[in-house]
Amino acid sequence: MLRIALQSKGRLNEKSLELLREAGISIDDNNRRLLSKSSNFPVEVLYLRDDDIPQTVSCGIADIGIVGLNEVMERGLEVDILQHLGFGKCRLSLAIPKNAVYSGPEYFEGRKIATSYPAILRNYFREKNVNCEIREIAGSVEISPAIGLADGIFDIVSSGGTLIQNGLAEVEKVMDSDAVLIGTPGLGEEKMDLVGKLMSRFTSVLRSRGKKYMLVNVPNDRIEEALAIIPSMKSPTLLPLADKGWSAIHAVVDESEVWDKADKLKKIGAEDILILSMEKLIV
Ligand code: ATP
Ligand code: MG
Repeated sequence: MLRIALQSKGRLNEKSLELLREAGISIDDNNRRLLSKSSNFPVEVLYLRDDDIPQTVSCGIADIGIVGLNEVMERGLEVDILQHLGFGKCRLSLAIPKNAVYSGPEYFEGRKIATSYPAILRNYFREKNVNCEIREIAGSVEISPAIGLADGIFDIVSSGGTLIQNGLAEVEKVMDSDAVLIGTPGLGEEKMDLVGKLMSRFTSVLRSRGKKYMLVNVPNDRIEEALAIIPSMKSPTLLPLADKGWSAIHAVVDESEVWDKADKLKKIGAEDILILSMEKLIV
C-alpha cells in the first residue's frame, strides 16, 4: 500500500485529485477524512497543508506527495523529485514599487524584503553577493511596501494582477514552479513498483492534455499536402474510403493548432473534418 500526501484544500487540491481520477484511481472523497483509501488501486491519500507535505514525504510518513516545487525548494529537505505535473504553474519573483528605478539585484543591498520564502531568497542573494534584510511574513506579502513593512517583496506571481493592484512591478524572476510528484528517497522495491505504475499513468494523462484527435477525408491526389499540414506524433493513420479516390487521415494534433490546420486542409479540398476529445494517450 502506497501513501500519497495531497493538499487538503487550496490551489493544488482539485487538480491533484483530478489527476488521480483521470489516472483511473478512485478515491472515496465524499467525506474527506485525513486519510482515505482508493477502492481500485493500492494507495491511500493523506490530506495535509501544503507546507507539511515535503517533510511528511522526506521522513517517510507518506511515500509520495504532490506539492509545488516552490515549497520543496523552500523546505530544502531530502526528497526525490519524480515528475513535473504541469499544473500549479507560477513563478517566484522580486517586486518593488512601480515608480522606483531598478538597477539590478544590487538595488536590494541594505533594503528590506517581505516574503514567505526566506530560504529561497537567502540562497538567491547569497549567490548574487547582496546583503538585504529578509522579513518573513506568512500572508498578504504584497501589501508590505504600502504599509512601510518592506521596500520590496518576494512572492508567487502568476498573471501579475495582484502586483499591479498593489502598485508593484516585477523586477526579477528567481524561479519557475509547478506541481511536482515527490518521493521518499530509497523506497523499497514493492513501493517503487507501484510508484512506477502511477507515474506511467500520470504520463499518459498529461500527454493527452491539450491534444485532440482529428479525422479528415482527403482526395487521394492531395494526400501528400494533407500529411504535410498534419504531421502526427508518429505517422498519421491513412485509410481508404469506400468512395474510390478518397482517403481518411487520422492524427493527434495540438488543440491550439486545430483551427489553423482545419482551415489549411479545407483549402486543399479536404472534407468532413472531425475533431474528437482524447481521453488517454498510452504509449
Ligand atoms: P495551505 O493551506 O495548504 O498551506 P497555501 O495557502 O499555502 O495552502 P495555496 O495558495 O493553496 O497555498 O497554493 C498552493 C501552491 O499552488 C503554491 O505553493 C504554488 O505552488 C501554487 N500556486 C500558488 N499561487 C498560484 C497561482 N496564482 N497560480 C498558480 N499556482 C499557484
Ligand atoms: Mg501553505
